[in-house]
Amino acid sequence: MKEIKIGTAVSKTAGRKTGALRIGTLPDGSPMEIPVVIVRGKKPGPVLWLHGCVHGNEYCGTFIIHALLARLKPAALAGTVVALPALNITAFQKGQRMSPFEGFAGGDLNRNFPGDPDGTLTQQMGHAIYKPLKRYATHLVDFHTAMTEDVRWALYAAVGGKVEKESEKLARAFGYSSTLPAPPTILGGSALMTAAKDGIAAMIVECGGKGPAFTEEAVEDGAERLHNILRALKMVSGAVTDHGKLNYFSNFAWVHATKGGLFQRSVRCGDRIEPGSVLGQFYDLHGRPNGEATAPKAGIVLAIHPGPMIGSGETLVHIGLDPREV
Ligand SMILES: [Zn+2]
Repeated sequence: MKEIKIGTAVSKTAGRKTGALRIGTLPDGSPMEIPVVIVRGKKPGPVLWLHGCVHGNEYCGTFIIHALLARLKPAALAGTVVALPALNITAFQKGQRMSPFEGFAGGDLNRNFPGDPDGTLTQQMGHAIYKPLKRYATHLVDFHTAMTEDVRWALYAAVGGKVEKESEKLARAFGYSSTLPAPPTILGGSALMTAAKDGIAAMIVECGGKGPAFTEEAVEDGAERLHNILRALKMVSGAVTDHGKLNYFSNFAWVHATKGGLFQRSVRCGDRIEPGSVLGQFYDLHGRPNGEATAPKAGIVLAIHPGPMIGSGETLVHIGLDPREV
């Protein structure tokens, strides 16, 4: 067996290895390190790379990855699962999206792959993570959340050819009914697109909301869907669950709030909306109704602002456009 070495996690034979990957240095000189778990099967097969908390406060994915890892038995596995459950560790610690040590250019890690060893902190982090990803991974599942606990949708890399076919296989095995075949013109610098352009099949799962806004059921369901990906890739035995037809979108649209105040949503993620559909109600601080938020476009609600208050410019709703059953 060829050695797989990611930081201090070194796998040479079947079994489970843990360690840490250094992605930077803290201002006190101590290493900025992230956890790595490698579960290697007895038989050869794909290398499925899983990571979570690219955005530090999107904890649901970390729990889904842990739930999947708890199920895996090296003796019954073909190939390898590589898991990095908490990538943006300093943002993770602070409960925020981006690293508190990144003072320049916003520092969205999911726009900074493949990274730069001489760049900003986030670019250096991207480089440290992407190097082993590119070297070892055949497939990538990248976990994110949006705003509320009812978020359930996915994207796969629709970059054409074999990579698109294999990426779609991941998305169908995961089987969220709201799915975007993401064209190569969007999400530049994401792990998804960077990996896909390097020949690695890739998808993003969006499950749950920021911080603690997710449920145990979402985690268990996510882990089962992830396990179904392993069945589809023949990494574990068992019949592949067929999730049936999915709703594919042509693209998505972000709609920002143009007013502020108290806000109560009236739609849920997965709801179908038309132009003019009421999304929620604004109130002023005297308790008076202050207008409705309405949808500017038709589609399916991917994410909606949770309230209880909203300021202008915040994301009001995220819409999946032109859903069609495929
Ligand atoms: Zn995210």
